Amino acid sequence: MSRNELIELKGVAKSFRSADGAPRTVLESVDFALQEGEIVALLGKSGSGKSTLLRIMAGLIPADAGRAAYRGQAIGGPVGGIAMVFQSFALFPWLTVQQNVELGLEAQGVPPAERARRADAMLELMGLAGFGGALPRELSGGMRQRVGIARALVTDPDVLLMDEAFSALDVLTGETLRDDILELWDSKRMPTKGMLIVSHNIEEAVMMADRIIILSSDPGRIRSEFRIDLPRPRDADSVEVRGLVDEV
Ligand code: ADP
Ligand code: MG
Repeated sequence: MSRNELIELKGVAKSFRSADGAPRTVLESVDFALQEGEIVALLGKSGSGKSTLLRIMAGLIPADAGRAAYRGQAIGGPVGGIAMVFQSFALFPWLTVQQNVELGLEAQGVPPAERARRADAMLELMGLAGFGGALPRELSGGMRQRVGIARALVTDPDVLLMDEAFSALDVLTGETLRDDILELWDSKRMPTKGMLIVSHNIEEAVMMADRIIILSSDPGRIRSEFRIDLPRPRDADSVEVRGLVDEV
């Protein structure tokens, strides 16, 4: 393990039972490492196992075989250093924005005054200062996902896993949120040290990532890897993506 490795997967495998009861291998043997300081985009066809892989990293489901580690420690359940953002936002509709963001801190036993202070800081970071008292349904989709990100960041995780975090949003809203996150990252105002972004959008991956990996569905392995050595912000057209299109 290198000193700066945040997440390491070695030979990670996962099968599910299909409707007829037969096991179906989704991940056959996945090797991957996320280093400190990098944004990696994970691309792959729908059903290729991207969400499954992220859930394993987040400790939400166990791998059948192989090793998943965070900073050298086996991931055996949700770990404080890794947070996840979901395509569907996954906010609790009956809780206010502030309460949604404070959840992770409450679970850690952080006292109320400090919870409020840290939630405020994250809401401000995500451009939602003053919206703490609102209910999720009173917000637009883009704002709801900003709440989802604030909630993920509030516990100060090292790693942010984003599972198609922009795909439920209209194009302009998604691009604005993506650019805001990149600006925070590139100006070192994101509290995380590494990000893994799942996408099925090649342009999004090219705009965001330092490195793109592709999960092939047959069999479930990381098949290819592309490093992007251009500074952000970058033009999607500035990177030769033709090869990538064929891969995905
Ligand atoms: P992706 O995110 O790349 O679209 P998923 O990881 O969601 O892919 O799913 C990969 C495959 O595993 C799909 O065929 C899906 O139906 C199946 N799958 C995922 N989760 C479960 C589950 N809990 N039970 C059974 N099958 C599942
Ligand atoms: Mg998915």
